[in-house]
Amino acid sequence: MFNPIQIELTRLAVILLAATAVGILSHQIILVLLLGIICFLCWHFIQLLRLYYQLKENRGIPANASNTLWAQIYEHIRMLQIKSQRRKRRLNRYFSRFREAAMALPDATIILGRQGDIIWCNAASSALLGLDWPEVAGKNIAQLLQHSVLTDYLSHGDHSQPLEFSSDVDKTKVLSLLITPFGKKQSQQLMVVRDITRLYHLDDARRDFIANVSHELRTPLTVISGFLETMEETPTEKGAEFIPLMRQQAKRMDDTISDLLVLSRLEMDDKDPAGEELVDVAALLADIADEAAALSGEAQHQIMLAADSALLLRGDKKELQSAFSNLIFNAVRHTPGKAHIQISWAIEGKEAQFSVTDTGEGIPARHIPRLTERFYRVDAARSRDSGGTGLGLAIVKHILQHHNSRLDITSQEGKGSAFSCRFPESRVVYQG
Ligand code: ADP
Repeated sequence: MFNPIQIELTRLAVILLAATAVGILSHQIILVLLLGIICFLCWHFIQLLRLYYQLKENRGIPANASNTLWAQIYEHIRMLQIKSQRRKRRLNRYFSRFREAAMALPDATIILGRQGDIIWCNAASSALLGLDWPEVAGKNIAQLLQHSVLTDYLSHGDHSQPLEFSSDVDKTKVLSLLITPFGKKQSQQLMVVRDITRLYHLDDARRDFIANVSHELRTPLTVISGFLETMEETPTEKGAEFIPLMRQQAKRMDDTISDLLVLSRLEMDDKDPAGEELVDVAALLADIADEAAALSGEAQHQIMLAADSALLLRGDKKELQSAFSNLIFNAVRHTPGKAHIQISWAIEGKEAQFSVTDTGEGIPARHIPRLTERFYRVDAARSRDSGGTGLGLAIVKHILQHHNSRLDITSQEGKGSAFSCRFPESRVVYQG
């Protein structure tokens, strides 16, 4: 059995032999040979043209069992066509299954183009945002939703954090929006909006519960503290031993309750940015540094303050005082005596930076991401002994959030820690 190439070569050889024979007989060997080769080439050219039109017009190629070169070329192309059709059908099936699944997602899922135009959205987008597919195809999302908070977030928000807002379709619903860029050069965006009403109310209930419990505990505690104070003034023999201890524990409870109340108030205001009072941070820090020196007492920490007095900050003075003093007092309470504590307040580009750096023992890296959680302490016993409630950094985190800032913590074990935050240009007033 010959293979297609051998058949083709045999065919060429036969033509050349026949042409040579006819050429010898007619004494025109070159001419007849040339004619033979031209015929051979023309035949191949015709086959090529046939194939070209068949492929161009996307005509199906019939099966051919012949073993010639052209028949085999056709057969290979036919097999490729069958394979590609099968792959196409399989892909179509996957795609429609994926589309059906995405359509059925309970969260609104929207694909946005570079300019915020809607490329695709699922059924839940209608219930949560009032976007009906396919009517909204190609339209701009910001123009369709007409929601100022949303528009701000879409155009220049920090997309690493989700946005929480109330639905325009159903005012009782609280929604959370998350945007993830994808595709070539991250030019498209996947927007996912989910209904978090239940979670939101649960969070409310938790917040209310903590605030109520704290309030309820405060009254009996005040009474107990009052009695203890009176008893301390006229101590009995046994009482002299216990009462100072009881007073100390009552004070700890009172401090914890105060911090819990501060935290729940801050959490309730979480959605609103802090006020616009013009705060002289340098003066504030000078007062806190004096208080820190008094807190240090015999431990004699070396407290240094470098604050730019021309740099003012728009915000809530009480909250800022609480945040800065928490960080500075922490440096005193969590570092050994004589350690250096550097407080700085300076302009960095167009932003303002506050930092407290100490030369204490530092914090092991694994603890750093969790330090702002309530009651998270590296060393619980030591924190309590130093008068800490374990809520200080959680309070700082919320206050900074109110001021469009966040806490950065860096630390090296054995060398010390640095707690810093930057305030955006919109809050900075420089009078230099
Ligand atoms: P606490 O009332 O215990 O100080 P915080 O929330 O203020 O609670 O701080 C949480 C924990 O972070 C502290 O218990 C302490 O372990 C650690 N910490 C905070 N500031 C410092 C610091 N400057 N140096 C070392 N550890 C610190």
